[in-house]
Amino acid sequence: MTTYKIQTFGCQMNYSDSERVSSLLEQAGFNPAKEDDTADLLIANTCSVRQKSEDKAIGFLTQWKKDHPHVTIAVTGCMIRQTGDASNSKDPVLELKPIDLVFRIEDTARLPKLLEPHFPEHDFSEFGQVFGTGSVENYFHINPKVENRKQVFVPITQGCDKFCSFCIVPYTRGREHSRPMDDILAECEHHVKHGALEITLLGQNVNSYRQDGKKCFTTLVQKIDKLYDQGLRRMRFVSPHPQDFTDDVIEVLAKMRTMCPYIHLPAQHGCDTMLRAMNRNYQVEQYESIAKKIRKAIPGCSLATDIIVGFPGETEQDVKDLIAFAKRVDFDFSYTAIYSPRKNTPAARMKDLFIDREEQKKRFHRFDKMIKATAWARRDRKIGQTIEVLVETSEPTKDGMYKNKGRSAEFYETMFLSGRPLFGQLVNVQIEKRSNYFLNGILPEGTTGLNVIA
Ligand code: SF4
Repeated sequence: MTTYKIQTFGCQMNYSDSERVSSLLEQAGFNPAKEDDTADLLIANTCSVRQKSEDKAIGFLTQWKKDHPHVTIAVTGCMIRQTGDASNSKDPVLELKPIDLVFRIEDTARLPKLLEPHFPEHDFSEFGQVFGTGSVENYFHINPKVENRKQVFVPITQGCDKFCSFCIVPYTRGREHSRPMDDILAECEHHVKHGALEITLLGQNVNSYRQDGKKCFTTLVQKIDKLYDQGLRRMRFVSPHPQDFTDDVIEVLAKMRTMCPYIHLPAQHGCDTMLRAMNRNYQVEQYESIAKKIRKAIPGCSLATDIIVGFPGETEQDVKDLIAFAKRVDFDFSYTAIYSPRKNTPAARMKDLFIDREEQKKRFHRFDKMIKATAWARRDRKIGQTIEVLVETSEPTKDGMYKNKGRSAEFYETMFLSGRPLFGQLVNVQIEKRSNYFLNGILPEGTTGLNVIA
C-alpha cells in the first residue's frame, strides 16, 4: 500500500486545490498516511504571496527530508512554474535538494504519470485511465475529496489578468481562465445533495468571471442561489476585485437568499499614489463609493480587505491617508501584510524606493492598532443579540461539555459551549461578550440552539 500526505500552505484556493490532488491520488491507488512517519509520498502545496511564505515551505521540506530520508517529495502550488523532474524541467524549485518532482496545479491530472518512475512497485495500471493531460479543463474535472461536507469550496476561475505590480500570481497561476458554468453548477448541486450548507466560490478575481467573452458573475450566483430550495443556506466568494464590483453585482447580491452579509474586497491601499504604483486601476473614492453602496444595499454587511503597508515609495502622508481611509470605511477585518518583493515583479525593481524594514514594521503596527479598534467595535454591536453560527469544530472539554467554534454570517469567529457536539450545524447563539476578534456566546435558555433546516 503506497501512502501519501499533503501539506498545504496559503489561502483557501490552495486548500481547495489540495482536495483535488488528494482525490486524484486516491483514484490512482494511493492511501492517506495515518501517521506522518508512514507516508511514502509528501506533496507540498505552496504559497508564494510573500517571501516569508516561500521560506516557510522550503524550511518545512528541508526538515521533512532530514526526518524522513526515503520519502518522495513533490511540490505544487504558487511556487511552481513548470511541471516535471530533474530530467525534463528547469523549474528553479528543483534546484532545492530535497525535491524529487514539481507540477503546476493545472497539471494535476498528469500527476500519476509523473509519479510512476518514483514508485516502480506501485501498480498504476489497475486504477484505470486517470492519467489525463495537463490543462485547466482537466484540472476542474477532477472531483475534490471534500473534508467538510457542510462547508465546501468551489473554484470558478484560475489565474489573473490584472498584473498588480507587487503580485506574482499572474506569473505563477497564469492568465485568467473561467470554468464552464454548467460544471460549476453541477459541482455545487452535488455538494448540496450531500449536505453542504455553505458554498464559497474561489478565484483570484471571482467577479470578472466570464463565459464566451461576456462577464456573467451575476448570472452564476443567481443560479447557485436557487439551490436554497435544496438546502443551501450560505454563499460567499473570495476574492472580488473593486474594478468589477459594479452596481448590478451589488443589486443582485442584495436580493439573494443565500448571500452572506460579508464581502472581502481587497483595497491594498488607501491613497491614490500608492494604488497607481501598485497598478490597481481604481481610486480611493471609487472604492469608498462601492463600500457605501454595499452597506446600503446589504444592511449590516461586514467588509474585510487586504492591505499592504510599506510598499516602495510610501510616504508618511500616504500612511496617514491609509489610516484615515480605513477608518472611514469602518472595516470588520484586514488581512494586512508588510510589503516584501517578489522576484520578477515590477515592484521588486523599485529598489531605490524600498522602505526600511523597521519602519515598515512600525507602519504595520500603527495600522493594525487602528483596524483592531474598528473591527472590535463592529463586533461589539453583536453583544446581547442572537446570531446564527455554522459550527466548524466541536472539541470535548474536561468537564464533559463541547467547545464549539464557527462563524456567523458576517464571518465573525464565534465560540460557545454545548452538551453535545454540534459540528456542521447551524446554531442560534446568544452573544455575551467579545474577546479580541472572537465572540463568545451561549445557547439561548431552554433551546437546543439548532435551526430548523427546511
Ligand atoms: S488582482 Fe492583483 S493581487 Fe489579485 S491575484 Fe491578480 S495580480 Fe495578484
